[in-house]
Amino acid sequence: MKGKLAVAPLREWNVPLREKFFVAGPCSVESKEQILQTALHLSAHDVTLLRGGIWKPRTHPGSFEGIGAKGLPWLKNAGVVAGLPVTTETATAHHVEQCLKAGIDVLWVGARTTTNPFAVQEIAEAVRGANIPIMIKNPMNADLELWIGAIERISNAGITKIIAVHRGFSSYGQSAYRNPPMWRIPIELRRRMPHLPIICDPSHICGSRKRIPTVAQEALDFLFDGLMIEVHCAPDTALSDASQQLTPEQYGKLLSGLRFPSGADPTLLSPALQVLRKEIDAIDDDLIALLARRMECVEQIGIWKRDRNVSLFQLERWEHVLRDRVESSVQRHLSPNFVRDLFEHIHEEALSIQERIPPVPLGGGHEQERSPDFANGGREEGLDELVSQNSEPRG
Ligand code: PEP
Ligand code: MN
Repeated sequence: MKGKLAVAPLREWNVPLREKFFVAGPCSVESKEQILQTALHLSAHDVTLLRGGIWKPRTHPGSFEGIGAKGLPWLKNAGVVAGLPVTTETATAHHVEQCLKAGIDVLWVGARTTTNPFAVQEIAEAVRGANIPIMIKNPMNADLELWIGAIERISNAGITKIIAVHRGFSSYGQSAYRNPPMWRIPIELRRRMPHLPIICDPSHICGSRKRIPTVAQEALDFLFDGLMIEVHCAPDTALSDASQQLTPEQYGKLLSGLRFPSGADPTLLSPALQVLRKEIDAIDDDLIALLARRMECVEQIGIWKRDRNVSLFQLERWEHVLRDRVESSVQRHLSPNFVRDLFEHIHEEALSIQERIPPVPLGGGHEQERSPDFANGGREEGLDELVSQNSEPRG
């Protein structure tokens, strides 16, 4: 099934499609007036579909959880008045039934729902025979197979108008993004399913207005088929995702500031080359982040060695690392010499990081007792594992 979905091209969707597929509208439908005003202002700009969340999946109870089904006619009415088809998120079969009854033109499956195959299957059963277009956001976690699985479930229900929406992936700890984009995942989806349209949702990737133009441009540079942008007539008063929503005017400015690279222009680099270069940039970013994490482990081990007066250089361990990395390089068709050189550089840097750790101050209270394994050649057993686990590539 993979790569062979029956997917209708976007020009067969019967929506106002110009150059790219643009979904715009508020995070949530809040009132009849709010969605109407937003839609009317948006209609001055290039918009393919008017979005508005009716049922909102929120992290904490007590936040605004959407206006519910009574907002469906408000959304539909705003679309009719502004001359735009409308879309909302459905997470259950009951949502689907209510949307179909209300004449909602396109449905979308949200990131939290894509994470759950039971929920996606329930939606697939509810849309079977309905011939309604569906957009499928990536799951919260960075799991391409889960995203593809959701697309397959919807496709197996007979839906041919499908768009994948890349909205970034949740992460723990601090990041410049609300949901880091991890571009290599949608790029791999494009490689696996070349005919499936993919659009990008920079609003949920960024979480704030500031970086939306950069991420939107990156998506266009990756030759995505369009964008989904949260737009609200009064974003600062929005009941959900206030900090990431644009005014309709800002939306217009965003679109006019974007470049639309096209594969047809012979003066440009070949699109395939651009995509690969972007992928390389993203991979290199990841490599640097992994190296930084590896060096943090190295430093922790250095402190452990210093506190026990263990030599920084451990021949046995180094021989093991080198042998192991060279062996895995062969399995992955990398040149062993290249990998050996690379790890020699890494090891050299690791030793110099450990050398720079200041000595224990006199009477500084660090533990000085030898660990039980010190007698056994000074090997750092528990920490050894930590290093080898953390220096393995993650996928
Ligand atoms: C949304 O689009 O408002 C939304 C909740 O998106 P996601 O499922 O990507 O978090
Ligand atoms: Mn939102």
